Amino acid sequence: MRIFPFAMPFLPLIGHDAMRERLSEQVSRGALPASLLLQGPPGIGKQRLALWLGQRLLCESDNAPCGTCQHCTYALAGVHPDLLWYFPRPKIKDSSDVAFDEVAADYAEAIADRSAAHGLYARPDGSQAIYLYAARLIVQQAVRTPAMARRKVFVVGDAERMVPQLGNQEAANAFLKLLEEPPADTTLILTSSEPGALLPTIRSRVVSLRVPPLTDAAVRVFLAQPAAATAAGNNATIDELVLLAHGAPGALIGAENGGIALERAKKLLDAARRGREGALRAAFVQGTSKARGQFSDVLDAMTVLLHERSRDAAEKGDGAVAAASARAVRYVEEAKRAAEGNVNPQLVSARLLGQLAEIGA
Ligand SMILES: [Zn+2]
Repeated sequence: MRIFPFAMPFLPLIGHDAMRERLSEQVSRGALPASLLLQGPPGIGKQRLALWLGQRLLCESDNAPCGTCQHCTYALAGVHPDLLWYFPRPKIKDSSDVAFDEVAADYAEAIADRSAAHGLYARPDGSQAIYLYAARLIVQQAVRTPAMARRKVFVVGDAERMVPQLGNQEAANAFLKLLEEPPADTTLILTSSEPGALLPTIRSRVVSLRVPPLTDAAVRVFLAQPAAATAAGNNATIDELVLLAHGAPGALIGAENGGIALERAKKLLDAARRGREGALRAAFVQGTSKARGQFSDVLDAMTVLLHERSRDAAEKGDGAVAAASARAVRYVEEAKRAAEGNVNPQLVSARLLGQLAEIGA
């Protein structure tokens, strides 16, 4: 058993109260499905919720999860030997011949990294996947006796990234059979923000639960934790981050975080205020088509800033600025729709900044 005496605990699960109540009640009645899928938008905390459910299942206290027993302490540090967490990872090597020890060590290291970051992590990039060797390890671990608790719980995050076979139909079938009929002491919790991309053979074997985004109030509580606010974006205020998060603060974590998008949005709005010429120059600096994803983040951030400006102006009784900001929001919304279609971001931002310069927003 690996134990990191100094392992950092994950930040507590915030929100999802109704879902927690429902799941907890199902556990109490012994009615929790053995294979579950938690689906919902990225960044709302589905894996954190799944880990909470794992802790709930392993804790033997009357008011589980108690948060203080050994099961809870280990689960919260990511080191409980019966709470096994899998998610997309870079490929270990090109050969399909990867030893279980290597796979287990790779995940132990990845979980220790996530734990050291308080369970805050960016979405894995597109090259990472849950490879078949991980699925084979899960199958092998599922038939073992639990090491410490009475049950075993597997959390499989971003499950749509499971690589179907790599030429080994037998191992893939073994995983499907496990999902269909886990051993009596085993629970499998899959999570996905793209359930449509899940293999139909997986989807048909799990009970799906839709996890809603967090309320703004819950996002605020989440961001009140310094580690969370820092991970979400250094350059933004909590108010700005709450608005940017749209109930999914985890989506702000990573390279294209809210802070960067907000910084760019501020620059573009400043340029628009300096007039048409400044706006056009800014538009051409901003846009290349490969930055499409980032561009939509910037447009979201512009909406946030313009809403703020409109609200401030209304509070100060400055009707003209409030009206101009409200109109600017509509232009940004139009630009978002154009950017979602296949229009070059450079053209979209040139047009938008021209419009903003004209109305003096
Ligand atoms: Zn406990």
